[in-house]
Amino acid sequence: MATKYCYLFSEGNANMRELLGGKGANLAEMTNIGLPVPQGFTITTEACTQYYEDGGISEEIQKEINEYIVKMEGITGKKFGDKENPLLVSVRSGARASMPGMMDTILNLGLNETVVNTIAEKSNNPRWAWDCYRRFIQMYSDVVMEVGKKYFEELIDKMKEEKGVTQDVELTAEDLKVLAGQFKAEYKAKIGVDFPDDPKEQLMGAIKAVFRSWDNPRANVYRRDNDIPFSWGTAVNVQSMAFGNMGDDCGTGVAFTRDPATGEKKLMGEFLTNAQGEDVVAGVRTPMPIQQMAETFPEAFAQFKEVCQTLENHYHDMQDMEFTVENKKLYMLQTRNGKRTAQAALKIACDLVDEGMKTEQEAVAMIDPRNLDTLLHPQFDAKALKAAEPVGKGLGASPGAACGKIVFTADDAVEWAEKGEKVVLVRLETSPEDITGMKAAQGILTVRGGMTSHAAVVARGMGECCVSGCGDIKMDEANKKFELGGKTFVEGDYISIDGTTGNIYDGIIPTVDAQIAGEFGRIMAWADKYRTLKVRTNADTPADAKKARELGAEGIGLCRTEHMFFEADRIAAFREMICADTVEEREAALAKIEPMQQADFEALYEALEGCPVTIRFLDPPLHEFVPTEEADIKALADAQGKSVEDIKALIAGLHEFNPMMGHRGCRLAVTYPEIAKMQTAAVIKAAINVQKKHADWNVKPEIMIPLVGDVKELKFVKKVVVETADAVIAEAGSDLKYEVGTMIEIPRAALTADEIAANADFFCFGTNDLTQMTYGFSRDDAGKFLGAYYDKKIFENDPFAKLDQVGVGKLMEMAIKLGKPVNPNLHCGICGEHGGDPTSVEFCHKIGLDYVSCSPFRVPIARLAAAQAAIKENK
Ligand code: ADP
Ligand code: MG
Ligand code: MG
Repeated sequence: MATKYCYLFSEGNANMRELLGGKGANLAEMTNIGLPVPQGFTITTEACTQYYEDGGISEEIQKEINEYIVKMEGITGKKFGDKENPLLVSVRSGARASMPGMMDTILNLGLNETVVNTIAEKSNNPRWAWDCYRRFIQMYSDVVMEVGKKYFEELIDKMKEEKGVTQDVELTAEDLKVLAGQFKAEYKAKIGVDFPDDPKEQLMGAIKAVFRSWDNPRANVYRRDNDIPFSWGTAVNVQSMAFGNMGDDCGTGVAFTRDPATGEKKLMGEFLTNAQGEDVVAGVRTPMPIQQMAETFPEAFAQFKEVCQTLENHYHDMQDMEFTVENKKLYMLQTRNGKRTAQAALKIACDLVDEGMKTEQEAVAMIDPRNLDTLLHPQFDAKALKAAEPVGKGLGASPGAACGKIVFTADDAVEWAEKGEKVVLVRLETSPEDITGMKAAQGILTVRGGMTSHAAVVARGMGECCVSGCGDIKMDEANKKFELGGKTFVEGDYISIDGTTGNIYDGIIPTVDAQIAGEFGRIMAWADKYRTLKVRTNADTPADAKKARELGAEGIGLCRTEHMFFEADRIAAFREMICADTVEEREAALAKIEPMQQADFEALYEALEGCPVTIRFLDPPLHEFVPTEEADIKALADAQGKSVEDIKALIAGLHEFNPMMGHRGCRLAVTYPEIAKMQTAAVIKAAINVQKKHADWNVKPEIMIPLVGDVKELKFVKKVVVETADAVIAEAGSDLKYEVGTMIEIPRAALTADEIAANADFFCFGTNDLTQMTYGFSRDDAGKFLGAYYDKKIFENDPFAKLDQVGVGKLMEMAIKLGKPVNPNLHCGICGEHGGDPTSVEFCHKIGLDYVSCSPFRVPIARLAAAQAAIKENK
C-alpha cells in the first residue's frame, strides 16, 4: 500500500507524535476529546524526509495534499479560493519535540485581491479583511520568499507616522488596504514577479517553506543543543483559521496551567484583544493578564478554564496552550507539555505525584536530566542577564556563571585571588600546570579547545564555570590583552562568562547562589529507588570526592593520580624522578613522593567511607610535568647537580611527535616499574591504615592500569603490582583484599577483551581516549573541523560529548560480551566524559555496565538518567 502522508485531525491522536509531530498529534488529541479546535489536517514527518530525499514535494504527495484540502472543504463548508465563502488556513510547522520559535508559520493563506474584497464587503468588516491580507503578504514574503520582515515593518511604521497613531490597531481598513498594496509592490520589487494569487500555489509554497525551515541555521543549532536528530523531520499542519482580529470581542492568548518559572499551580498567561498570531508574545501591544479575561470575555474565559482542567487531567502534566477568541467563541490552537525551569520541573513532578496524577516512576521520567545542571551552579541574575548583550560566544563547556577581573596566567589568578579579588582566567588554552590557577579563578575562558579540552574537563570536574574555544578572541598573551567584539580587554577589566550558553559579556553581571528546592531530594530519592546502574564520580581530591558524595556518588570510578603530582610540594620531587639517570635515583625521588601519595589516598578513602575507589596509575606523557620557566629549570638543575643545558636537553628528549599515542599509560610502568611499585605501596598502605581505623567499612582498593592494548602489557604491570601489594600486606599482617583492573580505551583492548578479562578484575571504559583512537582524531583538535562536519551533516554531535553508540559503543558491547564469560566476576564501568551525558548513560544501562563515573556535578544527572533508563526498559 502506498504510504499515507496526510491525516485529518480526526484521524490522529497523541501517540502519533513521531509521524504527526507534537503539534499535530495534540491537535488531533484535542479534537478527539471534543475540544473546540479549528479543523484541518497534518502532513507527516515522513513527507518531510521524502521532501529532503526528492529535493521537492513529489507529485504523489501534492496529489494527496489536494485531496485533503477537498476533505477539509467538506468539513468546514468553505472552499479554497472561493469568493463567497473562502477557506482560509494557517500552515504551521510541528516537529516531534517542540522547538518553539525555531520554524515558521503562515496565517490567513488563501487570500487574494478578489477574495479580500468580497469578504470585506460581505462581513461588513473591511478592517479585518485587509488586516488579514496584509499579514498574509508579510508572512508569506518573509517565510516563503525570505524577503525579510524588516521592509514590511518599516512600511507599517511609516504608515503609523503618517497617520499620527502609535498602535497597529489604530490603523483603519483604508490604511491597511494601502499597506497591502505597498507590501505587494515591495514583494515584486524584491522577487521580480507578482505576489501569487492562486491559493493552491500559495499552499504548496508555504508547505515547502515549512519543510525548508527544518534546515534553517536556528533550527540546526537548536537541534544539536537538544539532541534532536535531523532525520526526524517536521510535520506540517494545515488548519482553518480562527480570527482573533475581527474586533473587540475577539482576541488571542497564550497560557500555562502552572507557573513555568516556579511550578506553582496557578493559571498564568496573557491575552490581547483584537489580535492575531504572535501579537501577544511579539510585544506589538501590552497584553492583559489572563485573569482579566474574566471581565471582558466571561463566557470564553469560563470555558477556557474548564479546558485547562480537562487538558491537565488528560495529559497529567502542565500544559502550554495557544487559543483564540472569535466573536466571543473559544478556539484551541495548540497544547503541549510546557517548557519549564529546572526548579519548576521538580515542583510540578512532585505535585503531580501528590495529586495522584503521576506515579513516582512517571515523575522521575518527566524531568530532563540536563536541566539539573542549572540547579547546581551559581547563576546570573536573570533580569540582568536579559538586559545584557554578549560581546562574544564560545562553547558552554562547564555550566555556571562567573564574573571577575581578567587575568592571563594561572599564577596571577592565584596571586589576585589571595588578595581577595574575583578573577576570570583567560588563556589561549590551559595545561595541567594551570590547575591551581583555574581553581583560584571564578571561571575559565579559553580561545582554543573543545568540550573535552583540558580546560573543559578540569572545569567540569571542579564544578567551575568554563567557556572554551572562543575562536573570535584575538589573543595577545604576551602583552596581557585581547580583542573581542571590537573591544580591547586588558588585565583587570571585568568580564562575565556564562558556562551554560557560552556567552561572554563585557563588565559585571551579578550572580545569585544556586538554590536547591526540597523537591530535588524527593525526586533523587525516587531515582535511586528505580535505577540499577550505579553512579560513581571522577575525583582526584578529597574535596571533590566529598562534594560528589553529597551529590550521591557511590564511589570513585576514576582517580587520576597525576593531578596529585602538580601540587607545589611534590612537583619538584617528581621532576627529579623524571630527570634521574638510574633506577636508584628514580627510587630515591619516588620515595619522597610515596608518603604524600599515601596521605592523598588515605584522605580519599576517608572521604568515601568504605565505598569503592578506583585509582588509576600514572597516565600522561612525562613531558607534561617538566618545567617550562627558566627559573624552574634552573632550580631543577641545581637540585640534580646538573647544568641547565643538561636539563634542557633532557626536556627536549621527552618531546614526542604524537604524545597522545606516545610514551604514556601503562607504557610508563613498563619502562619504569618503580613508579607502579611506589603507587601500589601508597595505595595499599593507605587502605590498610584506613581499614584499621574503621572496622565497619570495607576498604578494597581497585588499582587501574591505563592504556592497555595487549594482554602482555597488563600481565607485566599486574605482576609488579601484585608482588608489591602482597609484600606490603604480608608485612602489615593484614588480610586486605584488592583488585587489579584495566581501562579499555584502545580499540585493540576491546577486540581482545577475552584475553584481557582473564587477567583483570574489572574493565573501565575510558571513552575519551577510546573515541579518539576509534575515530583516529584528536579530541583537542577536533574543534577545527567539527563545525564543517555539522554543516555537512556528517556529524550531528560532538562524539566526545555524546557517545558514538554505533562505533565506539559497538566496541564496548563487544568487550563486555567477550569479557564476562571468561571472568564472570568482571565488573564494568565507564569513566569518560560520557558517563555524565544522559543519552550515553542510557546506552551504558542497556549494554549492561555496572556503573558510570562522571564529574561530581554531573552525579545527580547520571543518577536521574540511569533511573530513566531503567524505567523506560521496564515499561
Ligand atoms: P509556533 O510553533 O512558533 O508557536 P504556531 O504554528 O503555533 O507557531 O503559530 C504561530 C501563531 O499563530 C500562534 O500564536 C498560533 O496560535 C497562531 N495560529 C496558528 N494557526 C492558527 C489558526 N488556524 N487560527 C488562528 N491562529 C493561528
Ligand atoms: Mg505555537
Ligand atoms: Mg585515557
